[in-house]
Amino acid sequence: MIAKVIVDVPSRATDRPFDYKIPAGMIGWVEVGSRVGVPFGGRVLQGFVIGLADFADIDENKLKPIAELLDHIPPLSPDLVELAQWISDKYCCALTTALQAMIPSALKGKADSVVTIAEDTDADDDETALFANALFTDAPWLAYIRAAGGPVRMAALQERFPADASAVKQAIKLGVLTEQVTIRDRLAVRKVLTVYPPDQLALAQEALMNYPARAAKQQDVLRYMLEHREPITMTALVEALSTTSATIRAVADKGWITIREVEQQRDPYAGRSFKRTEPLPLTEGQQAVYEEIAEALDAEASRVFLLHGVTGSGKTEVYLQTIERCLQHERQAIVLVPEIALTPQMVERFKGRFGNSVAVLHSRLSSGERYDEWRKIREGRAQVAVGARSAVFAPFPRVGLIIIDEEHESSYKQEESPKYHARDVAVRRARQHGAAVVLGSATPSLESYAAASRVLPAASASDTASGAKANGGSALLPMPYRVGNRPLPKVHLVDMREELKAGNRSMFSRQLHEGLLDRLEKGEQSVLLLNRRGYSTFVMCRSCGYTAQCPHCDISLTYHQKSRVLRCHYCGHAEQSPEKCPSCESEHIRFFGTGTQRVEEELAKLFPGIRVIRMDVDTTTEKGSHEKWLTMFGERKADVLLGTQMVAKGLDFPYVTLVGVIAADTSLHLPDFRAAEKTFQLLTQVAGRAGRHELPGEVVVQTYNPEHYAIVTAQHHDYAGFVQEELKLRRFMSYPPFCRLIVITLSDEQLTHLITAGDKLAATLRQLAYEAGIKGSIDSDGARFIDILGPVASPIPRMKDRYRFQCMVKYRGNVGAIELLKKAISLLSGPQGQPPVQLSVDVDPQVIL
Ligand code: ADP
Ligand code: ZN
Ligand code: ZN
Repeated sequence: MIAKVIVDVPSRATDRPFDYKIPAGMIGWVEVGSRVGVPFGGRVLQGFVIGLADFADIDENKLKPIAELLDHIPPLSPDLVELAQWISDKYCCALTTALQAMIPSALKGKADSVVTIAEDTDADDDETALFANALFTDAPWLAYIRAAGGPVRMAALQERFPADASAVKQAIKLGVLTEQVTIRDRLAVRKVLTVYPPDQLALAQEALMNYPARAAKQQDVLRYMLEHREPITMTALVEALSTTSATIRAVADKGWITIREVEQQRDPYAGRSFKRTEPLPLTEGQQAVYEEIAEALDAEASRVFLLHGVTGSGKTEVYLQTIERCLQHERQAIVLVPEIALTPQMVERFKGRFGNSVAVLHSRLSSGERYDEWRKIREGRAQVAVGARSAVFAPFPRVGLIIIDEEHESSYKQEESPKYHARDVAVRRARQHGAAVVLGSATPSLESYAAASRVLPAASASDTASGAKANGGSALLPMPYRVGNRPLPKVHLVDMREELKAGNRSMFSRQLHEGLLDRLEKGEQSVLLLNRRGYSTFVMCRSCGYTAQCPHCDISLTYHQKSRVLRCHYCGHAEQSPEKCPSCESEHIRFFGTGTQRVEEELAKLFPGIRVIRMDVDTTTEKGSHEKWLTMFGERKADVLLGTQMVAKGLDFPYVTLVGVIAADTSLHLPDFRAAEKTFQLLTQVAGRAGRHELPGEVVVQTYNPEHYAIVTAQHHDYAGFVQEELKLRRFMSYPPFCRLIVITLSDEQLTHLITAGDKLAATLRQLAYEAGIKGSIDSDGARFIDILGPVASPIPRMKDRYRFQCMVKYRGNVGAIELLKKAISLLSGPQGQPPVQLSVDVDPQVIL
């Protein structure tokens, strides 16, 4: 037997499968998706098995054998391996880079797993258990594990019973055996005392009634366990009831509850109880949308829906109920939310409905926690995964539904390799599984909107983002009204130039000032947004204009208040903030900032006694701080929530009746073709935080561009109006969704070298396109074109002492742009596949800056 292995060296020369012999003892254990150690160039490297074959292409005796098997249950399944292949093709990255992106970072070393005989599982699963046990009764390996009387290492089983790989794996899947994993001891498994609810409910209920009065504390324990009916750690229970472990043990001694020592999953939400919620009766608008999606779920048809619902239209309830439908089909659901919106409030809504079957994956978890959540998914203990971008790779066997909330968010695009877009990966994965995709937003991206509403000429529409083509297009599902027909908040624009003319030099307009005052008097709450995009905290001399620059990158250094250090965001260079200007020695050198802090100071000055919660990068670095601030705000322990983009998304607080935007324009004039779109989206999102419940909401937007279409349409909640204007411009300028983009960034220490390479690349691409007979100029109505722009200096022309140039490819229709690019790169590369200069490719870039 031969294994085709992708070794973990992300270079063009090694980006192909290498054949290895599977030693006799590993046959059956090694599968597609297994992680293995293989000899490669004198070292043992980690690799993924992406295929198995009976025979090698070359003389088998010349092949080296696999050195070791790194996990006994493969971390990836064949469908994920296939998806990785697609990502590698589409986004021009090494296959190993795509594969590595799919597994939790904790899983880098060797995983040591042990198995034990599983303890009795749920009573209602008895038949399965009986069946499963019967299946393996006479198995010698089972007898061996029984005889061991404790955990047995998988490696030992493999050695002793090489032929029983599939039986052992099946026993784990069926729950006859329990697998526990440690990875190089770094993530040692924790054991914790856990309290289990009563098995015999009726008897326990009766016991509760008849509990002796003097044992009221014990009665509390039993009542709690009967009400919650989910295992809880001893510590959490002691805390929840302010009781003692002795009291809990006393109840256990009476036999009503059970206490066991179990392997602790580092569940980041452990000990927290989420209030269970029941499905709400759907509104008419929700019902219509629900039925469309349910139909696709029932048919197990791979379809893409764009759920365009205004803020407060109840999209989340639609998500919850479609997930329920999906679970009824015994299929699993993935919910992607932007990292920044992955707030406890959001998690609570899913945990509240689906309890422990929800796994949560996001970057604020420790790598151990993330690994545990991931295993929960892989082992079938979770049916719903809620997470940021990479949760699209959640290792579910039968995905039925993928939901992408706030689908327009640019954070769905990964900025480092593999530079994939989670939306497109989701569509691809859904196609593999016959799953439905629901893209939800109040302000859909122009790409998704164009694909769903068919505003483009047929030929080009077929090639827009979301891969809608093979799905027969995506369908637009509108929800234009808020739940309960609550009005959208009234939005007032304030022209800040007029304020200045009227002698108001404060950062608050008179209207916003009055609004805040009014809310303070009424005891209602306000949200203040400082649009940070385009701003940066930098140091400048007021006398000579000197700004502190990174000595290695052409970019201003960022000032960090806490440490008083200047830091480069690209290379990490750090230096002390100067007291005097290094250029003119003036002392008028100071930092110009985003100023959430300045806003906070100003608030305190203008409204004595005002309680402000400030949320920005400085106040949310600590783990759990996000949660802490939002809980405080939810409990009305503050009057104002002030922050950057992170206060704009997904929050739902009933007493927020005023939203203020301090400067709407900061993101409007960025050199990025999506600047207007981003501004419109942000304003609409943040406005949507006001008046979501009984109390009506109001929004004050301060701007220097009150006539700009992005701001005017946001004022009127006029998505259609915005799209119409924006599409005109995009068509005129030939930008997505009227074409697609690829940006190639070249970098080198030597400028001359770089210029030569850049020119060569552009020329080769043009030549190849010409040879392929593709029209080489922009013509916005043609179905097919390709245009190669550049090379020009990158927006950041030097980084980490390397100069940077970029080429941009604009194309439309099926022109094979990526293949042309790959060909051009290989023509310019050396015999070992080494490119002439360092080169990075971004397909469908989100940030052009
Ligand atoms: P969106 O995500 O579209 O902005 P949400 O899902 O947050 O909107 O819903 C807004 C509010 O309406 C929430 O407080 C939610 O609980 C409530 N809601 C949603 N659907 C219903 C319904 N069918 N009946 C009553 N209230 C609902
Ligand atoms: Zn100076
Ligand atoms: Zn730098």
